[in-house]
Amino acid sequence: MSRIPVTVLGATGVVGQRFVRRLAAHPSFEIAHLAASERSAGKSYREACDWRLPGEPYAGLGDRIVEACDPRLSFSPLAFSALDNSAAREVEPAFAASGCLVFSNASAFRMEEDVPLLVPELNAGHLGLIEVQRKRRGWKGAIVTNPNCTTVVLLGALGPLHRAFGAEAVSIVSMQALSGAGYPGVPSLDALSNVIPYIGGEEEKVETESRKILGRLEGGRILEAPIAISAQCNRVPVIDGHTEAVSLRLSGSPSPEDALAALESFRPDTDGLALPTAPERFVRVRREPDRPQPRRDVEEDDGMALQVGRLRRCPLFGLKLVVLGHNTERGAAGASVLNAELALARGWL
Ligand code: NAP
Repeated sequence: MSRIPVTVLGATGVVGQRFVRRLAAHPSFEIAHLAASERSAGKSYREACDWRLPGEPYAGLGDRIVEACDPRLSFSPLAFSALDNSAAREVEPAFAASGCLVFSNASAFRMEEDVPLLVPELNAGHLGLIEVQRKRRGWKGAIVTNPNCTTVVLLGALGPLHRAFGAEAVSIVSMQALSGAGYPGVPSLDALSNVIPYIGGEEEKVETESRKILGRLEGGRILEAPIAISAQCNRVPVIDGHTEAVSLRLSGSPSPEDALAALESFRPDTDGLALPTAPERFVRVRREPDRPQPRRDVEEDDGMALQVGRLRRCPLFGLKLVVLGHNTERGAAGASVLNAELALARGWL
């Protein structure tokens, strides 16, 4: 089968580079266009991009010319977007209107009621919103989003436990990596030897996105899961990997042993599809007392594994645990590529 041509929007940024590295070796997709802002358009990818990843520099595409994010110039039937939010608001609808299926990392459209917000293992059926979106907006293409990086890490634990028992209330305190703020991101004099107890808009995203993702698609709309979620988000001096301390109140107050069994026996919606970017297991349970840790564990399964550890009783909520995930892979580029693989497997491409 010939590979599907794709455009990477925002190809020069932190997430864009990870898209380029993943897609350069992808069995079903082939990079046709690299696109970024007017500042970069017309330059070679080598000149426009401050490549920061290990492995082959520029994923072998250093001589490609970066184009503008304009569907008349850089159209493909499929696009991956790592655009800044304000650029995404303009560019993504233009591509969708011209027939492109846009897989976006930006938050601009995540909470719109006709836009799928996907974690393929948890809510693959929400892809059905594409029909609603096309009808409502008159687009030939569509926008499909993946959650905020902190949200998807939380869902590594909350998703399977909600499915098994029903979640009532969740408290989450995040310790978020610096790469989540793009490059160069937080100034070193603010970041080193410090904790910054504020990340603009992040807490609201975790609280609202989780309820949408765990909701039910019924009659062309999502009925959100009625879970009380309280998030406190902090930036810490870690390069990659968000760690979250989570307390949960689940229906029926299951024991830690029952919760562990539910996590280990979780069957994702993607079972049997053999999606190339899917991790071996959606959630991996760690039994060591001091794991998971970002520096030692975050690259597991190419950064796509979500890892839960320290599951134990909580005197306030019933259960507490720690969960870790890679913010620019499972929380960004890898997540979008997985969404596109699901769409391909389900016949949307
Ligand atoms: P970044 O490093 O700042 O990269 C931003 C990209 O957008 C660059 O390619 C930039 O191109 C392009 N861009 C900026 N303004 C533009 C415009 N007006 N028109 C066209 N292109 C424009 O940011 P990032 O960290 O990769 O994040 C990208 C997106 O992913 C954001 O929406 C972010 O919220 C989301 N996200 C990030 C993470 C993370 O962990 N970093 C996780 C989940 C989601 P130039 O180089 O030409 O300026």
